[in-house]
Parts: sequence; structure tokens; C-alpha cells
Amino acid sequence: MLRINELRLPLDHPEGALRDAIVARLGIKPAELGEFTVFKRSYDARKATAITLIYTIDMTVANEAALLAQFAGDRNVTKTPDTNYRFVGKAQEGLAHRPVVVGFGPCGIFAALILAQMGFRPIVLERGKAVRERTKDTWGLWRKSVLNPESNVQFGEGGAGTFSDGKLYSQIKDPKHYGRKVLTEFVKAGAPEEILYVSKPHIGTFRLVGMVETMRAEIIALGGEIRFQQRVADVLIEDGQLRGVVLANGEEIRSDHVVLALGHSARDTFEMLHERGVYMEAKPFSVGFRVEHPQSLIDKARFGPNAGHPLLGAADYKLVHHAKNGRSVYSFCMCPGGTVVAATSEPNRVVTNGMSQYSRNERNANAGIVVGITPDDYPGGPLAGIAFQRQWESRAYELGGGDYIAPGQLVGDFIRNQPSSVLGSVEPSYKPGVKLGDLSTSLPDYAIEAVREALPAFERQIKGFSMRDAVLTGVETRTSSPLRMTRGADCQSLNVKGLYPAGEGAGYAGGILSAGVDGIRVAEAVAKSILGDVTVVAEEA
Ligand SMILES: Cc1cc2nc3c(=O)[nH]c(=O)nc-3n(C[C@H](O)[C@H](O)[C@H](O)COP(=O)(O)OP(=O)(O)OC[C@H]3O[C@@H](n4cnc5c(N)ncnc54)[C@H](O)[C@@H]3O)c2cc1C
Repeated sequence: MLRINELRLPLDHPEGALRDAIVARLGIKPAELGEFTVFKRSYDARKATAITLIYTIDMTVANEAALLAQFAGDRNVTKTPDTNYRFVGKAQEGLAHRPVVVGFGPCGIFAALILAQMGFRPIVLERGKAVRERTKDTWGLWRKSVLNPESNVQFGEGGAGTFSDGKLYSQIKDPKHYGRKVLTEFVKAGAPEEILYVSKPHIGTFRLVGMVETMRAEIIALGGEIRFQQRVADVLIEDGQLRGVVLANGEEIRSDHVVLALGHSARDTFEMLHERGVYMEAKPFSVGFRVEHPQSLIDKARFGPNAGHPLLGAADYKLVHHAKNGRSVYSFCMCPGGTVVAATSEPNRVVTNGMSQYSRNERNANAGIVVGITPDDYPGGPLAGIAFQRQWESRAYELGGGDYIAPGQLVGDFIRNQPSSVLGSVEPSYKPGVKLGDLSTSLPDYAIEAVREALPAFERQIKGFSMRDAVLTGVETRTSSPLRMTRGADCQSLNVKGLYPAGEGAGYAGGILSAGVDGIRVAEAVAKSILGDVTVVAEEA
């Protein structure tokens, strides 16, 4: 098959225009073009009055070899790359120890799924509850201010991304097309087919719940086992080799291959692993606030007269500002038409994040506005970033006045450094509630200073961004893991063989898609280690 990249057409082009454009681009006769499919569709909205759609198209043509020769050197007309996933091996009968996967977020799900599809019958241990029960607990915090520290936005089946916008894109390098495998499995599990071709796919929280259950069922059908409310409390290490894990209830599970897909909030588990001598180091992350604007303001600023166009949906944005004090401020995890959510997993702390439904039709747009920080800001070893996060999450709880109410301030007041007392036109969506006041002591001075400078600067990119009534809610501290459990080329811990740190908690992913991709990578490493010398054995059905 042949691929054309960068085929541009106006936003409202008629249906037949795509076929005409392909024929014109290749300079062939219409009858020489066979079937074609859209591999990717994105848009260029830099000029709001003349938005263009950009297509990547795969097609069959009558004279493929001749066309490839004719377009040699043109990187926008190439042979379609092979993106099919192939397993690295198959498990033999009578495996001595089954691999264990700790954590059932996107990384653990894909590690377990790939291991199961290869016949390794993994045992998954997840500290939280199955997704439907977990949803009730999560609502408990949002509606009644009751936190269950083992079942919440961070912990439980589906992991941290379950109550999210379900954005499924990432900037990772992916030469083996593992991202395609992740998206394909999601579609099999019930995601809309469009996630395979739109440039910024998202699923929304509601669908994710059902998809996670479907993937769980497949793993079990393939001989895997998934145990909820089973927190790993210790690891068994003998002479630098992992031999198994110990659960909080004292049960030992022996295995020489354990994937740790813990997520960034498993602070107690990080502490235990550090105590056991597993190699880890502090890493940079970011802190800041959530900001909420009317979605209509963002749509208008980005799409002008095309705001509301069904192909464009609710507009997103991506902003960066380099502040005079040397800090970078950027928008993080933007959720069009969504809500700000309470995302703590620890009592008496406040953490914000954002989520949307598939329709993205809530009144407000929200995004993290965060400042990059490094271990120089929290010296003291691998766990110092956790202490730093806890300090500011506790401070936010205090400023909110308790009951998980978050402290907030109007953007206009924050810029002028004066406390807020009355809401304007923007109603904050965070539940259980927002207490307006002064956020200037809610984060370190350098972060406050940098955000104060960035908000008016963002106005230049999104008209209305620094509007007085937009609301800041604090604090956003869990943007990524504060530490890395460094691993070697075989995906095993630098100093404990058989231990595979993976996903966001280990510092190897930063979102749902990249966590899924890392799960695949680590599952393959486990298979290779168990099987020894392996070759590609089977193409995926
Ligand atoms: C509200 C919110 C919205 C988000 N929105 C998006 C988005 O739209 N798009 C996107 O790409 N990313 C989003 N993210 C980030 C995304 O969710 C994470 O990057 C991703 O989930 C990381 O996957 P993971 O599998 O590495 O870790 P996690 O998803 O955090 O999963 C780790 C799992 O390990 C379990 N666990 C931890 N310790 C133990 C233990 N000791 N024993 C047993 N189990 C344990 C936890 O309970 C958890 O289920 C969002 C995150 C949040 C919180």
C-alpha cells in the first residue's frame, strides 16, 4: 500500500474531494486509485478563519512500484509502514513461576494483557477495588468529603486515568508502533473507532470504565488472574534477585518476574522499596494550579467563526511561558468541556486534576497551569519530592478550611495579588467545593511569581485567558512521578534482577498511552527473560 502524508483540504470540503485530491497529488488517472483509508486526520487552526484538515491516507494504486520510484525522496509519499503488532514469543506449557504484575492502571493492564496473550497467565495484584465499586468510593470524596485511602482517583482498577478526559496521545518516540497496539486493543474493548485516526483522540471517563472491565475479562479468559484489594507491602529479594512479593495480609506470592506498575501516588510502596534498597533517584516534576474558563471563550479564541464545528469539537490549547526567574510555566492535561476533580489519595490533603466525558460538553474548560521544578528545589534524596508534594497538599487542605474543599482565587485577583471573596461569571466545578481567598502562600514563591507572570502572557495566545473571573484552584502537585526507579536495557531494576519498574510511577510514562506502551515494552522484556533467546513467533490475529 501507498501512504500520502500532509494532504490538506478545507474544513468543509465535500466528500468526494479527498479522492480528487489524492488523484491530483499522485498525478494518476482516477481509475488507477483503488481503496483508500484515513490513517490520521488533524487540523491546522493557526488561522481561525481558514482552518484546514490535514490527512494521512493509505491506499491501493494500480502502479505502486512505479509511483514509489517516481516519488523517491518525497517523505510525504511513501510505502505504508507495517504497524501490525507481533508477539516476541509464546509461553511454554508448565511455566514454573507465573509473572506478577503489581498495579492495574494502563501500564499494568497492557503488561498483563500482552503477557496473557503470549500465554504467561500473569497474576495481577491491585490495591484498589474493581472499577464500579471504586467509582462509588471516588464519588464519596467528591460528594460527601469522605476519602477511602485505598480506593480513589489514584488507586483501583483502571489506575489514575480512569476518571479522566481519556486523552490518548503522547509525544513519545514509538518506532515499533506499540501505540497502535494500545489503541487497537482499546477499540476492541469498546472505544470509538475514531481514536485510530483522529490526531488527538480521547475517550472520556464514562467509556473507560466499561473498557477496563472488558480488558480484565480478556486477561482472565486467557488464564490470567486479577486480585483486587491486594496491596503489595513488601518484596522478597535474595542476593540481588527478586523472589516474590508479600501482601498487606501477610500472604507471600513467589515469582522471579515482577512488574511494578505502581503509578505516581504509591508513596508508601516507594518508601518500602527504598528501604529494601531498590535503586531510585529523584526526578523533576511540576506544580501549579487548575485554571477554569468558559469553554466558549476558548472555542472562540481558537476557532473564531468555526467555533462549534462538529469536526473540531471543543477546543483545547497548549501554552508555554519562560518566566524571568528562569522557570517554565506550561498548560498541563487540558480538559475541554470538563470538570476539575479532587485527586488526593491521602487524608487531609488537597490535590487537583481534570476530567471530561466523551462529549466534552460541560460549561468550563480546565487545565493545569504548572511550573517545572527539579530536585534542586527539594534536595534530600529520592523520596524528597514526595515530602515536598505532601507539604503543599497539606497547605492547600488548610487554606481550603477542611473537608477537602480546595483553595481558589480569581485570575484577575491573583495577577494583582489581592484576595478574592466573590465569584464572577465562572462557576468552579471542583467538588466538594472551592473556598475563595489568597493562593499566594499555597506554593513556593518562585512558582507563584512565575504563574503570575505567565497568565497575562498567555493572553497573547488565547484572547481572554487572563480574564478577571477565570478561577484558579489549588494545588496541582501530581503531574508526574517525583522519582525514577531506574532500569537497564532489559527493563529490570539497576540493582534487583527480576524487578521491572514500569509506567508513570517508575518515571517511564506520562499519560495513558505512554503508560500502555511501556506496559507492552516491559511485558516483552519479561517474556524474553523467561524464554531466553526468542524470535518473533506470531503475527497478531
Ligand atoms: C484525574 C486524572 C486525569 C488524567 N487525565 C489523563 C488524560 O486525559 N490522558 C492521559 O494520557 N493521562 C491522564 N492522566 C494521567 C494518567 O492517568 C497516568 O499517566 C496513567 O494512569 C499512568 O498509568 P500507570 O499504569 O503507570 O499508573 P496508574 O494509572 O497510576 O496505576 C497504578 C496502579 O497501581 C496500583 N498500586 C499502587 N501501589 C500498589 C501496591 N503497593 N500494590 C498493589 N497495587 C498498587 C494503584 O492502585 C493503581 O491502580 C490523568 C490522571 C488523573 C489522576
